[in-house]
Amino acid sequence: MKRAAKIAVVAAAHAGACLYLWRAFLQPWTIGELALGLLAGHIFLDLLTLLIHWTVDNYFTPASPVIGSTVYYFREHHDKAFEMFNRDYVEGNFRNAGFSLLIQLGMAAWVTGCAGNAGMAVAGLGGAYITQIHKWAHMKQPPRPIALVQRARLLVGWEFHNIHHADTARHYGLYAGWFDRVFDRLRVFETAEHIIWRLTGARAVETRLGDFTT
Ligand SMILES: [Zn+2]
Ligand SMILES: [Zn+2]
Repeated sequence: MKRAAKIAVVAAAHAGACLYLWRAFLQPWTIGELALGLLAGHIFLDLLTLLIHWTVDNYFTPASPVIGSTVYYFREHHDKAFEMFNRDYVEGNFRNAGFSLLIQLGMAAWVTGCAGNAGMAVAGLGGAYITQIHKWAHMKQPPRPIALVQRARLLVGWEFHNIHHADTARHYGLYAGWFDRVFDRLRVFETAEHIIWRLTGARAVETRLGDFTT
């Protein structure tokens, strides 16, 4: 994809998020609805990015159709964690911004009300920054406002994300990391891994269950 097209994708994802925010205030609204929507969007993006990262790391390869190039960057990152610092914001984020844009377009006719539109604004904008948030999580000294947000546990930070690099079967969260803690406690990925193996025979690349078939 040409550089201009990548910039257009990133810009459109930002414009879409702004439009959703604008739509949130087109009808009578309350602070409660607005807060609920912002929180829901935050939680939705955390869950979505966690599930995508877990699925890509475990059930796809760089040779997979359509998403192979995305999978390549995930695998490259496990081997060479700082390679992504050679790519600027646009190069690093146009894929996740494009995915954000698709979801924004797909949901436009369905989302109504202040809370729904505010939620989509947060999820849409955050989606355009996933790789950037990941980069900040690799900096021991990120920009000061970001460090404050990380310390408040609204975004993943170095201490949280470093665990994924020590054990790639853990801490998949690339946004807030809230669902990792819940899923670990409930053994969600262990259960999902077992069910997928029983149904399809596919084994997770980064298994948490060891050789459970023998
Ligand atoms: Zn990973
Ligand atoms: Zn990383």
